Amino acid sequence: MSLLRFKMLETALSHTAKEVAAPSSNPSDYFGELVFGRKQMRKYLNTQTYNALIDTIENNTPLTQDVADAIAAGMRQWALEHGADHYCHWFQPLTGGTAEKHDSFAEPDGYGNVIEEFSGKVLIQQEPDASSFPSGGIRNTFEARGYSAWDPTSPAFIVDTTLCIPTLFISYTGEALDYKTPLLRSISAVSKAATEICRYFDKNVEHVYTFLGWEQEYFLIDDALWAARPDLVQTGRTLMGHEAAKNQQLDDHYFGAIPSRVLAFMKDLEYECLKLGIPLKTRHNEVAPNQFELAPVYEEMNLANDHNQLIITIMHKVALRHHFRVLLHEKPFQGINGSGKHNNWSLGTNTGVNLLSPGKTAFENLQFITFLVNVIAAVHKHNGLLKASVMSATNEHRLGAGEAPPTIISTFLGSQISSVLDKIESSRSSEDIRFDAKNVFRMSGLSQIPSLLLDNTDRNRTSPFAFTGNRFEFRAVGSSDNCAEAMIVINTAVAEQLAEFKRIVDAKIERGEKKEKAIYESIRQTIKQCKAVRFDGNGYSDEWRAEAAERGLDCETSTPIVFDRYLDASTVEMFSKMGVYNKIELEARTEIKWEMYVKKVQIEARVLGDLAMNHIVPIASKYGGVLLDKAWKMKELGISSNTDIELIEMIQRRTAKIQTLVREMIDSRKRANRIEDMREKAIAYHDTVSVYLELIRDEIDHLEEVVDDQIWTLPKYREILFIK
Ligand code: ADP
Ligand code: MG
Repeated sequence: MSLLRFKMLETALSHTAKEVAAPSSNPSDYFGELVFGRKQMRKYLNTQTYNALIDTIENNTPLTQDVADAIAAGMRQWALEHGADHYCHWFQPLTGGTAEKHDSFAEPDGYGNVIEEFSGKVLIQQEPDASSFPSGGIRNTFEARGYSAWDPTSPAFIVDTTLCIPTLFISYTGEALDYKTPLLRSISAVSKAATEICRYFDKNVEHVYTFLGWEQEYFLIDDALWAARPDLVQTGRTLMGHEAAKNQQLDDHYFGAIPSRVLAFMKDLEYECLKLGIPLKTRHNEVAPNQFELAPVYEEMNLANDHNQLIITIMHKVALRHHFRVLLHEKPFQGINGSGKHNNWSLGTNTGVNLLSPGKTAFENLQFITFLVNVIAAVHKHNGLLKASVMSATNEHRLGAGEAPPTIISTFLGSQISSVLDKIESSRSSEDIRFDAKNVFRMSGLSQIPSLLLDNTDRNRTSPFAFTGNRFEFRAVGSSDNCAEAMIVINTAVAEQLAEFKRIVDAKIERGEKKEKAIYESIRQTIKQCKAVRFDGNGYSDEWRAEAAERGLDCETSTPIVFDRYLDASTVEMFSKMGVYNKIELEARTEIKWEMYVKKVQIEARVLGDLAMNHIVPIASKYGGVLLDKAWKMKELGISSNTDIELIEMIQRRTAKIQTLVREMIDSRKRANRIEDMREKAIAYHDTVSVYLELIRDEIDHLEEVVDDQIWTLPKYREILFIK
């Protein structure tokens, strides 16, 4: 074993569980204590200010300068009392992750003293000098600066000693440069459209909320071993590494006992998260060795997404205290499962009804089926776009890999719901819909749903978009994604579809049809239209691939081409009609997607080229030399050394192949770099550069099998992947 590898392994083995005790065993004692939530607002703001802020949060009422100043003063006082000395506008740029620029509360007063300055103006708006964030060309002109604007609907919080204020990040001309702005727009679009539909059923509905419950998968590895793998450090995944003899075949990791070091990390993380008001609920081992998952209780979508972004920051921080590194790459290790982020999506009313939950009466179920069918129709119409929303240079290694959702978006409903829809589709309304003596709507299939659903156990793990009893679960989202990207698409597509549905129903009512019948008929029509996207079978099978193509679903697998869906006429129309993105924003964001794709593959190609040439080839050659020396001497002594010669030839063949492939890869990269058009460049990287990563890796992994373990420098899978 090389000295470095030995030292790192020794260090890793010396790391033991580091218990961190929460100050109280009762989470309600500290839940949300670092959040400027309603309880804190009540305490630190006077009644008038508090009421004005609540009015802004709930009804979007603009704040006056005076009120903003009063809020800022209260918030500052609370923050100072809780150990903060800086504040920052916290936003979600398109690079992924979150950005923060810290400013001190203390400002020089010009007379040699400092005053604690934090006005309503700086709370509401800032102009961070953040010109390096990608804008897809939107901010190319000198006056088009980006600024951050307070999002009062997501409460401020304290991390370390900084008050973080959740903000939107927009260009001077109003275009969104982040994830939060379009997410809020899409939430408001779907809320408006859904509220209008709800009012067919219940006039008391005034608002529809959009909920998100995310489940986050991740890997943990020891930080010493991480540091000895330049590929992990630079790209977040291993670009080489022979599979360990034992990995996940025995399924002994899944839901197994959590290793004590990991449990200590999880407890520490939970404590930090609960203080920040993130309602973490579950934690468990995942399928692959060293893979874990955590999930909070679902929340209103904007807050849920902020919490997911925040937890990612906190995870990295807490991990370091336990000598771990968190890997959020979708496919950090070949041959074992990758990581995703399941997004559980649902809609609920201000009257407390989950619109994706069956009700007790036929009338309630008509509402449930209305929403269910319209969601399916939205997914059908925009299935290619939905895929584009989760595609990336990193997630492309996971999607379609036979362990994760396939690269074709379909919905799974389970046999009971499917049969209800089939029944509606084939029914003849004159026979199946009845109104009894009191004019109450009856329909046998719809009246029976609740009892049937109790047995919704046949959940299909191969489906990317599954109905799971009271919500849809989008499972194709990548572990490193910002959930918003996918949620923006689903919210907007559902908003568009609901608006269209309403138009059709209203036209029928205007022609004199009874409301229930008009809705029922429109549902029947919609079920017929979107049938192609419903698939309850095995999403991994080859037959499905062929059938999906026949059904007209999007089967494209090349990531840069999948991004084209963002610029389809139907996409542009949908986003602009729903007020979520204009054409300029869509073009800019797609440009950024291509650019990020190029950069990620470019970095991987560079790292692999370097490692191949300055780690692998020298080590393998050195071992080849040792064998050659031995064979030479044996020949002199007249002893046969055929097997050594075979090995020498194999090593020579593979090292020569690696050298050739690396040279070719560099040439391909150079050719691709000369392409101006970003889309074309991304396609070139996909088709002519990334292919080399696999070819080179294959040669290296074969060498790892035969080269003397004593001189191999990089920690191996079997060492990295099994935390004790
Ligand atoms: P599984 O792993 O079986 O999918 P989990 O219990 O790990 O289930 O996660 C389910 C997730 O779905 C949790 O985050 C939970 O809060 C969320 N969830 C439950 N009900 C809803 C709902 N109505 N809307 C959105 N999310 C929900
Ligand atoms: Mg799940």
